[in-house]
Amino acid sequence: VNAPNDLSAFWMPFTSNRQFKQSPRMLVAAKDMYYTTADGRQVLDGTAGLWCVNAGHCRPKITEAIQHQAAELDYAPAFQMGHPIAFEFANRLVDMAPDGLDHVFFTNSGSESVETALKIALAYQRVKGQGSRTRLIGRERGYHGVNFGGISVGGIVGNRKMFGTLLTGVDHLPHTHLPAKNGFTKGVPEHGAELADELERIVTLHDASTIAAVIVEPVSGSTGVLIPPKTYLEKLRAICDKHGILLIFDEVITGFGRLGTPFAVDYFGVKPDIMITAKGVTNGVIPMGAVFVTSEIHDAFMSGPEHLIEFAHGYTYSGNPIACAAGLATLETYKEEGLLERGPELAPYWEEALHSLKGEPHVIDIRNIGLVGAIELEPIAGEPTKRAFSAFIKAFERGALIRTTGDIIALSPPLIISKVQIDELIDHVCAVLRAVD
Ligand code: PMP
Repeated sequence: VNAPNDLSAFWMPFTSNRQFKQSPRMLVAAKDMYYTTADGRQVLDGTAGLWCVNAGHCRPKITEAIQHQAAELDYAPAFQMGHPIAFEFANRLVDMAPDGLDHVFFTNSGSESVETALKIALAYQRVKGQGSRTRLIGRERGYHGVNFGGISVGGIVGNRKMFGTLLTGVDHLPHTHLPAKNGFTKGVPEHGAELADELERIVTLHDASTIAAVIVEPVSGSTGVLIPPKTYLEKLRAICDKHGILLIFDEVITGFGRLGTPFAVDYFGVKPDIMITAKGVTNGVIPMGAVFVTSEIHDAFMSGPEHLIEFAHGYTYSGNPIACAAGLATLETYKEEGLLERGPELAPYWEEALHSLKGEPHVIDIRNIGLVGAIELEPIAGEPTKRAFSAFIKAFERGALIRTTGDIIALSPPLIISKVQIDELIDHVCAVLRAVD
């Protein structure tokens, strides 16, 4: 595949800037753990695409399922209509989901799943006669996609400031007492658990009867892999229960094996009322998201026809047959290859490999959980993000795709990675750390 000479029609801010155009990083093919670049180089995928290609690239079973479904039933509405594969996929998902999350609503992305979850939470409170519960609580440094609800509850101020009035009545849990620092410290038991108590303060401030839901990523990904102690999530659950507030987990990144368990819920043993997923649900191959809810929530909506009409929510592509086929083949691949349970086998090796970078230039912190890693670099004074971005460019030139968020290098390889490939990835990172200024 030849890249076109004119790169101006496609518009995506970070891919349309001058810097990219001067040195385009074009990916033309992929197989298992590697991308092929336009100039024919193999690049090790250290990030599973954008945290999504959990089973690796171009897996034949998934490709064939898509081809077959596209030839059989390409599109059918899921609005007042049905097709078997959507019901089958929903059943399989619910079978593997944590107990109690028994119903699933299909969307097309993480951002849409977030909007769907927020709307479900608000509508549920209303259906239950708690219409005064209209507030939503997110968390500082939370990331929940780019739609309006998601940026409102999200904790990245820079992502919201261009957009005027967003959702009103939103508040944010602090992530840390120290701005811009990680409030949770791995290896220090309970560190940061007390930050959950801030929810009590917020509840007192606003009055519990005004709060519909709290939304958090169990482990934040895009904002730098912030790993709370289990007690933090337990405390959030207890405070929500005490005050009749719904708890929403955004598992867009943590879902489907990323932490070495099927979901973060399984890892931490804390269950939300609503669980948001996307990305790994179809191995990132076809846009899809899935929002899991408890029977209590589902049944409340189904109890009266008026609720169904008022909750007029759903997308043209909800439960799209080709996406469901890709999803079913993805789940089969995960199962056949035991990918969602590779944590115990790989995580210790991964941890050791990552921590071997301690003492390398610029490294100020290393964090890991399951098959996720973060290497935090000392920012260059006055030029935040510059050092990590330069590491990203150098890694790509050497043959590894890594991701940066701020001054943090984030790693999240496909779950099929071998120990040899872990070494290869860490060698690349080590070399670029030594090479950047
Ligand atoms: N929630 C979380 C936790 C995410 O990490 C992301 C994407 N990185 C999203 C939501 C948004 O997903 P999408 O880009 O598919 O809309």
